[in-house]
Amino acid sequence: MSIRLKFNLVLAVVLLLAAAGAGFYVHGFLQKAAIDEVRHNSQLMMHSAMAIRDYTTELVKPHLDEKLEEKFLPQTVPAYAATETLKRLQNRFPGYEYKEAVLNPTNARDRANEWEERVIQDFRDGKVDLKQEVSGEVGEGMHRALYVARPITIKQPQCMACHSTPAVAPPTMLKIYGEKNGFGWAMNETVGVQVVKVPMFYPLEKARQTFYTVMGALFGSFVLLFVGLNLSLSSLVIEPMARLNLKLEDLATKDFLTDLVNRRRFFERLETEMAAIRVKNSSLSVVMFDIDFFKRINDTFGHDSGDVVLKSTALRVRELLRSSDCAARFGGEEFIILLKETPLDAAMAIAEAVRARIAGTPFDAVGHVSASFGVATWDHKEDSHALIKRADEALYVAKSQGRNCVVQAKEPGAAA
Ligand code: GH3
Ligand code: MG
Ligand code: MG
Repeated sequence: MSIRLKFNLVLAVVLLLAAAGAGFYVHGFLQKAAIDEVRHNSQLMMHSAMAIRDYTTELVKPHLDEKLEEKFLPQTVPAYAATETLKRLQNRFPGYEYKEAVLNPTNARDRANEWEERVIQDFRDGKVDLKQEVSGEVGEGMHRALYVARPITIKQPQCMACHSTPAVAPPTMLKIYGEKNGFGWAMNETVGVQVVKVPMFYPLEKARQTFYTVMGALFGSFVLLFVGLNLSLSSLVIEPMARLNLKLEDLATKDFLTDLVNRRRFFERLETEMAAIRVKNSSLSVVMFDIDFFKRINDTFGHDSGDVVLKSTALRVRELLRSSDCAARFGGEEFIILLKETPLDAAMAIAEAVRARIAGTPFDAVGHVSASFGVATWDHKEDSHALIKRADEALYVAKSQGRNCVVQAKEPGAAA
């Protein structure tokens, strides 16, 4: 797997996790904010209704009490005043509703529906504390709304004037509403609930749109980040790393003095080639050579001149080799050459050419230099070390035969 693919996979996973985390958090936050807004509005409406009720009781009704004897004025009833005032709000704020739902109302308009009856009953049965208010959701889709309900409990004795029996009720009221409904209430009885309904659809829809906008912006930023990081990945990471890798590869496999490959890389190459020709069944040879009396060169001309001889020898060898061959510095003043697809006679000829190239032209500052050679061809059975050992033994023979010559290695297993 390439580094770019790995990087992109990690980046994609991190960005996806970040988007999922942010999405989860933002969604929760926006939903809570929307519900909080709905709750706030419901409280505002409930308290407005209470304020209108109090205002009517304290500041309107006392002035009109006298007139009630001639004509019943529903405007003096707190529930009527609150319901009528807040009804006007609905024209501007559709879905916002206020109702004083009562089990047995004087005005039929205030009769509790089924679910309101259940809420009233919960208060009457003591399932809900009378000091508390209850809230919940009603309706679905566009009509989904939050409701808040507070109990209407008879606390003031003056209420009984209109709601105990028709006999004590103002005749003017009976004229309008009759004698059937709105009587029989008792002190401290919970007769109904004030219900406020606030629509949830719009705040939730606004939260949904804000969510998509935020996620869209986040996604856009992530795409930019993804593209930006990918563009800079090549110039900031991949290319410098490739250069560094090449450098490290050079350091690990090359001989710094001669620029030939080192002994480690030579073995790798040899074993790779051996594996390849085992399939192809072609030949492979190695030529090992060692500079003659090199110690003397060092001693006579100095170590630096010795180094120059090693470098120049490497250059001369290179000039004679094919690109498929591989020359290595085996150690000290010892070199080895891998000859691909080369049988013994051809390898002997190449070794001879190299010998002549070294010995034929004097080296700067040190004059004539020679080298001794051992040549071995792989028998397709022995391992790389055995093959090199045979070439080394042939080189040893070349030294013993007077140096500056090429010696063919013995067959594997032949007596030394
Ligand atoms: P022979 O003909 O038997 O090979 O004799 P020789 O003098 O070449 O062999 P010997 O093994 O006695 O000496 C090899 C010398 O090569 C000894 C060592 O100091 C020198 N040498 C090894 N590596 C380097 C190097 O990198 N630079 C230089 N200048 N000398 C080196
Ligand atoms: Mg030597
Ligand atoms: Mg040597």
